Order: sequence, then structure tokens, then C-alpha cells
Amino acid sequence: MNLKRWFVVACLTLTLVAEFLLFRAQQTRDAARTELFSAQVVLHSAQVELADLKNSNAGLQAAEISRLRTLNQIITNQLLEARSSLAELKTEYEQTADHLVTARRALKLQQQHIQEVEMEKSKVVVAGVAVIQQNRCNENLRQIDLAKQEWALDRNRSQDAIPANRDLLPYLKNGILPTCPGGGIYMINSVSEFPVCSLPGHGLTAQMR
Ligand SMILES: [Zn+2]
Repeated sequence: MNLKRWFVVACLTLTLVAEFLLFRAQQTRDAARTELFSAQVVLHSAQVELADLKNSNAGLQAAEISRLRTLNQIITNQLLEARSSLAELKTEYEQTADHLVTARRALKLQQQHIQEVEMEKSKVVVAGVAVIQQNRCNENLRQIDLAKQEWALDRNRSQDAIPANRDLLPYLKNGILPTCPGGGIYMINSVSEFPVCSLPGHGLTAQMR
């Protein structure tokens, strides 16, 4: 075998090795490509999942926000209704309080009127009692005066004579010297004078004799 043939064989062998190495490199590249593709697929699906998750989360958040808004609106409405009711109650209370004040004033006026009427009645009663006592006292004094005149006639006494109480008893009703119903003290005096009572307003006048 000459050198030229050895060279050809060597070149063929090198070519085969190179072909083989190229084939392996292509295989490795294809495998890498496949792996890359798989990785890209996984990445894509992960991205899709992430987007879904984001969307889903956003949806949930939106729903929660919507629910909270609705709840807030309901609570706000209830609060407004409660405020309105409270305002109505306050007005009603104020009106009732005004009525109560008016009623109390009316009651007070009524009580004052009743007191005035009672005072007037008691004044009238006192005045009536005073008049009755005055009339009775004057009647007593008239009886005593008559008794004095009879005593002076019977005993032939002068007009200046002053009888003792016991002197007059026979000429008085039931033999008793009457007393003033108002608590006044009597002074018999002389025959010519009127008997008098110590109370003001009690006493005989010439017309009564
Ligand atoms: Zn009297």
C-alpha cells in the first residue's frame, strides 16, 4: 500500500469520525432544542396559570369589593333611617315636653285660682262668723240693758246706780249672765249707760235700745 492510499484511507477515516461527531452534535442540539421547547411549553403554561391566577384573584377582589360596597350602602341607608327616626323622636319629645310645660302652667294657674277661691271663701266665712258673733253679742248686751232697767225699777234705783252681776241674774234668761261669743269682756256700767263689750264693733247704739 502506497502513501497515497494510506492518505486516502486516513482522510476517509477522518471524514467518518467527523461525520459521526457531527451526527452526535446534531443529536445533542436536537435534544437541547427539544428540552428548550419543553421548557418553553412549561413556561408558557406557567405564565397562563399565573395570568389565570391573577385574573381569578382580581375577580375575587372585585367581588369582595362589590360585596363590601353593597354592605356599606346598606349600613349607610340604615344609619340614615336611624338618624331620621332619631330626629322624629327628638321632635316628638320636644313637642311632648312643650305640652307638658303648658299643662303644668295650666295646672299651676288652676291651683292658684282654687287657692284664691278658698281664701275668699274662708274670708267670707270669717266675716260671716264675725257678723253672727257681733249680732249675738249685741243681743246679749240688749238683754243685760233690759235687765238693768228692770232691776232699777224693781229696786227703785237711780240712773247712776251700777248693779252687780248677781243683781241682774233674776232678770236674765235661765238666770245666767250671757257672755260674748267672740270672747269679749262685758262692763255692766250704770243704769243710764249702755253695757259694753271689749271687742271692737261689738256694742249697742241708741236705735237698738
Ligand atoms: Zn262682744
